[in-house]
Amino acid sequence: MVVGEFTQETDLVVIGGGPAGYAAAFRAAELGHKTFVVDARDGLGGTCLHAGCIGSKTLVHIADTIDSARRAADLGVQLGSPRIDLDQVRAWTQGTIERLAQGLEGLCRKHGVQRVRGMAHFADSRHVDIPQGEVSRLKFKRAIIATGCRSRAHGDLPFDGLRVLTPAQALELPDVSGDVLVLGHDYMALELAGVYGALGSRVTLIGQNEQLLPQADADLVRPVVRALEQRIEGVHLAASVTDATVTDTGVEISLDGSTRRFDRAIVCQGLEACTESLQLQHTKVALDKDGFIPVDERTRTTDQRIHAAGDVTGDPLLADRALHQGRIAAEVIAGLDVIDDPRAVPVVVFTDPQIAWCGLTETAAKLEGTAHAVARLPWGASGRAAGMGRTDGVTKMIYDPDSKLVLGIGLTGAHASEMIGQCALAIEMGAVTDDLAATVHPHPTMCELLADVARSIDSR
Ligand SMILES: Cc1cc2nc3c(=O)[nH]c(=O)nc-3n(C[C@H](O)[C@H](O)[C@H](O)COP(=O)(O)OP(=O)(O)OC[C@H]3O[C@@H](n4cnc5c(N)ncnc54)[C@H](O)[C@@H]3O)c2cc1C
Repeated sequence: MVVGEFTQETDLVVIGGGPAGYAAAFRAAELGHKTFVVDARDGLGGTCLHAGCIGSKTLVHIADTIDSARRAADLGVQLGSPRIDLDQVRAWTQGTIERLAQGLEGLCRKHGVQRVRGMAHFADSRHVDIPQGEVSRLKFKRAIIATGCRSRAHGDLPFDGLRVLTPAQALELPDVSGDVLVLGHDYMALELAGVYGALGSRVTLIGQNEQLLPQADADLVRPVVRALEQRIEGVHLAASVTDATVTDTGVEISLDGSTRRFDRAIVCQGLEACTESLQLQHTKVALDKDGFIPVDERTRTTDQRIHAAGDVTGDPLLADRALHQGRIAAEVIAGLDVIDDPRAVPVVVFTDPQIAWCGLTETAAKLEGTAHAVARLPWGASGRAAGMGRTDGVTKMIYDPDSKLVLGIGLTGAHASEMIGQCALAIEMGAVTDDLAATVHPHPTMCELLADVARSIDSR
């Protein structure tokens, strides 16, 4: 790579090569725009590929495999105690990421998108500088900011990558022996507590909130907490951690008056937008009070040449939404009449059992005063669930009591992640409960539980 003064003109520059950025760049190129994507990382994929979704779900799969071996005894199959080769686990996870990264590079070449490695910042609303890039300045017609988020630190427990880890650092599995504190109440905290527990750590999960996953319905979360309590050392909710200190050998905290020591802590205290490196003061882009970049339904910021997409624009901080918003940004810039207005962004928590929901939750319906009715169906009667020994699930449908329009669906149970896509489609297409009830679902499968809950509405 040659570093130096080198300016190029382009229709579009995308800053950030994560799901929002690469989706935007590929779509813009398809629509005929000369496009550059700039990312500080070596390859495309962002947090999602290199330090988030893919690594965490690969580890969740490995944890599920360990758990399935344990459950197999109930089905009459003795697999013995799993022996974990941590180097092979790390190699498998890293190999998965590298294979997918190569795929993205191929797509980048196929679309003719030009990639520049380096940190980018705005010189003004027409120019982006990449001081260490092989192209040092890009003159653009339009820009998309897709710089994502990073983990927010705990005041007393600064990240050091050794004793105090971000969720992303925890995925590298620096060490899984000893006592691990997971601090937080979001999906990352739950997933990592499950993974480290399965790999042999003694895990204590401490959430400041009364409920883990506060945005989900409490009745969907409860079974997950019960299952977690059986797998790890302890779950403490509404707990306040005081006097936290990092020592040479670990982390000490005061919890409810007693001192607890851990070998390391994984801190999941939420995320903050990556904007300060962008030098937005040279543009007209405004931030909201939490530091995110607010955008309208066409992904426009307060600077008419600059759009934003993905986590940097605020909730929901999810890759599926980032991909969608990135594509919308590219299409708006190309002059297509599209808006970003999904009715149902699916949220999946890859715990055991899993939780997934989309559309309106019962909690939100009550808070907003939306007229609604709820149908709940436990999975006890499902042939598929029974055969797998996984009747520990429930389907919940929130619908309009007059029109029977499906407003939201929530699931707790095995394979919920594979069922929620159909729920999102139903809500996006304006399905009423009868549509789901009248659709012939394959038998015996988990997805027929969606038809079952819809049918239960009329049978009551
Ligand atoms: C442990 C973990 C597990 C997760 N699991 C899931 C999951 O299961 N499902 C899900 O939907 N989401 C999950 N997420 C969230 C998901 O990773 C994000 O929602 C997604 O990556 C957001 O995409 P993005 O494109 O907005 O930003 P990112 O993927 O964060 O990409 C932003 C990119 O911008 C680059 N960048 C930043 N500033 C600059 C700059 N000034 N110049 C150049 N480049 C810059 C960064 O290097 C980065 O590559 C998880 C996250 C974590 C941490």
